[in-house]
Amino acid sequence: MPTVKPPSFFRSRVFVLLTGICVSLAGTFFLPARPAPAATIVLDPGHGGNDSGAGNHGEFTEKRFTLTLAQQVAGRLAARHRVALTRTADVTTAPEDRAAVANHLKADLMISLHLAVAPYCGDRTAAVYFHNDERLTIPPELTIPGTTNAPGTDRPAWATLQTRHRHQSQHLAATLKQALIDTGAADTVTVSGAPLVALMGADLPAVLLEVGCVHPAVALTSQQFNQQLNDIAEPIAAAIETAVKELLR
Ligand SMILES: [Zn+2]
Repeated sequence: MPTVKPPSFFRSRVFVLLTGICVSLAGTFFLPARPAPAATIVLDPGHGGNDSGAGNHGEFTEKRFTLTLAQQVAGRLAARHRVALTRTADVTTAPEDRAAVANHLKADLMISLHLAVAPYCGDRTAAVYFHNDERLTIPPELTIPGTTNAPGTDRPAWATLQTRHRHQSQHLAATLKQALIDTGAADTVTVSGAPLVALMGADLPAVLLEVGCVHPAVALTSQQFNQQLNDIAEPIAAAIETAVKELLR
């Protein structure tokens, strides 16, 4: 019977070394790069229906801008993520219904899209807001019959949901700011806290993004409308990708 010699010390070290190199090479050449995490993203086209938003002197209103922008950004993200819009047509949409879409889907993040209004904007500026309700009073029309107030406050419970995500929302705002600057979409991006009725019922990280620029008394032309959309849709989608990686890492 042939005897099987155990591998020498030298041989086993070579074996281990070669195995290690092969595993490393396999990792380098054959394993796919780790994909970006898939997220559920809710885009909220600001205004709609009876509420035209800014630029209501012409055909190219803010409500139309935000819906088109949301559709274009969604189209760029849909291959990798589940993306939902709070409205897909020119319809009046209540603030609590916008947040409810995101809550119902258990979304990872929500971004409300708006058009900035001069003189608080310029050609290459953007603003990101997170919800800060310190001075917030709830308008009576937002009180939903049958709902209870949050303990110790005069606010409906749903209107306090965003407060527990304040830090994450603030971080999301800072991430989007940096990503918009890095992608060259804007030179100046401000981050601020403000009472945001559309986001206060959102039980997830959520921010409001103001882009573009319209003068309150001057209608946007078709060319300005399309130019502003073309300039911003791709960078916003890229910035959201960066934010998703940051949030879900
Ligand atoms: Zn707006």
